[in-house]
Amino acid sequence: MTTHQTLLLNDGEAIPQLGLGVWKVSKVDARLAVNHALRHGYRHIDTASIYGNEEGVGLGMQDAGLPRESVFITTKIWNADQGYDSTLRALEASLARLRLSTVDLLLVHWPAPGLGKYIDTWRALIEAQAQGKARSIGVSNFDESHLHTIINATGVKPALNQIELHPLLQQPCLRCAHAKLDIATQAWSPLSQGQTFNHPIVLGLAEKHWRTPAQIILRWHIQNGVIAIPKSITPARIEENIQVFDFALDEQDMAAIASMNIDKRLGPDPLQFTFPAGWSEVCELAQRRAGNAG
Ligand code: NAD
Repeated sequence: MTTHQTLLLNDGEAIPQLGLGVWKVSKVDARLAVNHALRHGYRHIDTASIYGNEEGVGLGMQDAGLPRESVFITTKIWNADQGYDSTLRALEASLARLRLSTVDLLLVHWPAPGLGKYIDTWRALIEAQAQGKARSIGVSNFDESHLHTIINATGVKPALNQIELHPLLQQPCLRCAHAKLDIATQAWSPLSQGQTFNHPIVLGLAEKHWRTPAQIILRWHIQNGVIAIPKSITPARIEENIQVFDFALDEQDMAAIASMNIDKRLGPDPLQFTFPAGWSEVCELAQRRAGNAG
């Protein structure tokens, strides 16, 4: 069974089109889930320093025992670390926690325009790439104007933009901007956190194709040329979510899912998001947990 398909990024690097996301996953569970995923065909893991589980991801990779070059690892620079020097320091800390000398993709997690630091942060990512510590560099939660700002300031395009994208929030304008700029689109919360599993259109297509609702939605992303990083720590679901390369949705199926868009965000608005109330406690907790790694 094929479990693997890659897309070519604008810097010439290949990215597996389906990966495992590990947001809200403890270090222990991340280790188990990453190991399980890598043993069942996944070659792409999406973490972030703020998730507090980079050590678990690194250990899960070790447990699986695959050659380093066969696994694609993404991490992200958290808002509190934005700025040129602090970004480079944060990357060193992430690499140490992951037990890696290089990540395959390094992202600016949020533009956090209120901080006014994302251009300097982007310059640091360019430096990290020049130093060989990040094979590809990109951004997350950037809108079209943020993309133009960093490209105009540095002449360097991000390889991809990781954005909230699922049947309820299909982001047609931003995806069109990405296509024009040759920036790949990566979907976070690709399964709309489960909110569309009981939608009649999804259920109808699941019945038509003898697939689960999660597989129908992931297949829709794949056929749209989107990179998807569904999260699960349940072994059977991890296995289910990658079995999407052996069937196809037809044009009508794709149009039916396209009709589900209601522009509904499940996460924060990137224009507003910096540190919501209570967030500093969350950051501290994540960093304390990261510091306690064994
Ligand atoms: P998701 O859309 O991947 O949904 C995850 C939920 O669906 C979980 O509760 C999981 O148990 C359930 N699920 C997964 N597979 C299932 C299956 N086959 N059957 C039934 N239920 C299933 O949501 P997410 O975790 O928010 O997003 C995925 C990943 O995206 C994250 O883990 C993280 O890596 C990334 N992310 C990035 C950002 C960002 O700002 N860049 C923000 C949020 C998430």
